[in-house]
This record gives sequence, C-alpha cells and structure tokens, in this order.
Amino acid sequence: MGELCFACDAMLGRLARWLRFAGFDTTFLPDVPDPTVAGQARAEGRWLLTRDRRLAASTGPRVVLLRARTVGEQVAELRARLPLVARPELFFTRCSCCNGSLVELPREAVRDRVPPYVAVHASRFFSCPGCRRVYWPGTHPERITRKLLLWFCS
Ligand SMILES: [Zn+2]
Repeated sequence: MGELCFACDAMLGRLARWLRFAGFDTTFLPDVPDPTVAGQARAEGRWLLTRDRRLAASTGPRVVLLRARTVGEQVAELRARLPLVARPELFFTRCSCCNGSLVELPREAVRDRVPPYVAVHASRFFSCPGCRRVYWPGTHPERITRKLLLWFCS
C-alpha cells in the first residue's frame, strides 16, 4: 500500500485541514454533492472519510465512518482503522487551504506577497502552486506541531 490519501466529506473540513498539516493528500470539496465526492474518491483511490452513515454504506470498501466530533478523537478513530502514521518531516508540506504540494521559493520571488517584516526576517519561503499562498517557518504556531505529534505520531 502506498501513502494513504483521503477525501473528507462536507462535514469534516477541520479534519481535512489537520490531515493536510500532517502532510496527507486530502481533498475537501464542501460545495460538491456527496455522491460526486464519493465517486471521485473511488476513482482516485482515496479513502472517503465521512460522518454520514448512509454515504458510508453506499460507498466502496475504502470508506471510514467517523463518529467523533473533535479532530483529535476523529484522528484516533481513523488510526484504529488504518495504519496511519505521520512523518514529522512531512508536516506542513501541503497547503492547508487547497491541498497543493508546497514548493520552496527564493526570497526575491515572494517579496511582494508577504508582509514586509516577514520578507526581511523569515528564513525560508514555500508557495502553493494552487492558490499562491506563501508559507514560512512560523506560519504554523508551535502548538499545531505539538498536536500533530500527539495525534498522529504517538
Ligand atoms: Zn493552496
């Protein structure tokens, strides 16, 4: 089995963000009807994550029905079903907004796209090819890393 990848249903936007923080390829299309999301997940070999029992029952074998309401508990449920272990070196390698794989860019390339202080003082810059957001060390507070380690790696 290759790297696990996911499709979150419309109710699991927060979980989708956290899976992306952890480096997992995760789609989240809240404006697309559930059956379409399920069909697309199937076509792309993604595990569909859903809190909707009916949707879970009507989807192929790669589906995980989640019952928990908080992200931490949802990750625990997911890890009870799938061998999900995140690698810290992959943390923050994806755009948390659109799932794009971030690419490193030189300071000159992002100077006009970040606050002036950041343009001068940040050590490295990463950009999303999808939505053009720019990230730098410090974009994600330390508490997010601590939660990722606790939820995905312990
Ligand atoms: Zn993006």
